[in-house]
Amino acid sequence: MAEANMIAPDEAPILVWLRRDLRLRDNPALSAAAATGRPVVVVFIRDPLFDALGAAHKWRFGLGLDHFAARLRQLGNRLILRSGSALDVLRDIIGETGATTIYWNRAYDPDGIARDTEVKASFASQDIDVESFSGNLLQEPWKTTTKTGGHFKVYSPFWRALSVQAIAAPLAPPAQLRLVGNVPRSEDLAQWDLGAEMRRGAAVVAQHLLLGEEAAQARLDQFLDTVLPEYGEGRDFPARALTSNLSEPLAYGEISARQIWHQTLLRYPHGEAEKFLKELAWRDFAWHLTFHDPHIQTGCWRREWDRFQWEDRADDPRLIAWQQGRTGVDLVDAGMRELYATGRMHNRVRMIVASYLTKHLRMHWRFGQQWFADTLVDWDAASNAMGWQWVAGCGPDAAPYFRVFNPDTQQQKFDGQNTYCRHWLGTNSGFEEAVPLSWKTSRPLNPIVSLPEGRAQALAALEAFKTAE
Ligand code: FAD
Repeated sequence: MAEANMIAPDEAPILVWLRRDLRLRDNPALSAAAATGRPVVVVFIRDPLFDALGAAHKWRFGLGLDHFAARLRQLGNRLILRSGSALDVLRDIIGETGATTIYWNRAYDPDGIARDTEVKASFASQDIDVESFSGNLLQEPWKTTTKTGGHFKVYSPFWRALSVQAIAAPLAPPAQLRLVGNVPRSEDLAQWDLGAEMRRGAAVVAQHLLLGEEAAQARLDQFLDTVLPEYGEGRDFPARALTSNLSEPLAYGEISARQIWHQTLLRYPHGEAEKFLKELAWRDFAWHLTFHDPHIQTGCWRREWDRFQWEDRADDPRLIAWQQGRTGVDLVDAGMRELYATGRMHNRVRMIVASYLTKHLRMHWRFGQQWFADTLVDWDAASNAMGWQWVAGCGPDAAPYFRVFNPDTQQQKFDGQNTYCRHWLGTNSGFEEAVPLSWKTSRPLNPIVSLPEGRAQALAALEAFKTAE
């Protein structure tokens, strides 16, 4: 700390701890640091929470970091990469640079909150200023409350309460970010080898990515210009590509929800875009739920559903057939193949594959949650947990368990021309190039569990569950 004593207080660097906010625009922590005029050290830490991420997400995160590092270089700054516990790394960099302040944009998942609370408490006694900012949601989860001050468990009243609040306007990107004199050493991103766990063809998935802040912004502009008027009618049809695809950049903070909100309203000020904004607000609702009841991440939100007779063997051949897109049910297999080859899946199809897994196959929803966490490039802990529990019938505001999607009827309704299924079940989709050699790709002639039989078994299991209550 000898060096720290030699630095005048108004020259002491500010450390910005980057997490899921790989953007220059509307990045409150970065903007606040730039506004002080002091040198800024931007650091990303590969900590144990990061190492626990799923394969596709971690790989895509690495690409996002590489891209953001280039953005920072354009501003004359550097992205410093370090691995280890967040507290140790931050301590080291403070020692090396004489920084007296740490800024970050808040996390809302239970593990992230626990880590951040520990870091804050530890620096509180050391004359280090720690400040966290609101940067990742439309509104902080504790600011939207019921009339009695509690949190919401049902979406519609949440939306009514959120949509009348003033959502903070997005911030302009910092004009400059002063570089510190003694730039701390950075680890090499290539050495981190963040794609090591991608057992499949990353090159295939890479063709579908929407990478970086500029691409996200361009996609938002294009979506608002040409797609949004058809969104309300068309968003449920997987072959029509009438959704925004912004979930991927949102997952890494390459665009903020507030940017999307305000730009949409600027363009469509008279309620024309309400359907889209309502979907965007589901993401906030998911984080509201995870923040107020983190149990949703790991167990049935309706606790009694933990006693349901879920099938719970990870080596169950039916689970493996579902993962590998060979259940013999066209729309389910098409969706699982889209997921594997692109890291994405259309929302309507997510609901159908999730229903088939948790109802026709009665597998525990946690297997689906984990598979999505490992394979989605737009994985979002809160939306994923909420989505799975919504379909499985054990979440807040969930579809009841007895409502079993029939994938064939859904296909007739939402893929009537068979365009989506034909593409993903055909040989030119990229799926076969993406899968590991150990996978079988041929599909059975008949469904591994027929739709009527699976539905009957699901309803019988529900009856048994209700009788046992
Ligand atoms: P658009 O229709 O253009 O919507 C705009 C934005 O609104 C999305 O980018 C997303 O941020 C938000 N949004 C829309 N629908 C939902 C929703 N149902 N729940 C939460 N936010 C929503 N979304 C993820 O971002 N990550 C996940 O890991 C994830 N897992 C899911 C798992 C299941 C089982 C289900 C049923 C849904 C899941 N979703 C998840 C929600 C939804 O499928 C995706 O957000 C959506 O498909 C993203 O495509 P888009 O950006 O084109 O959406």
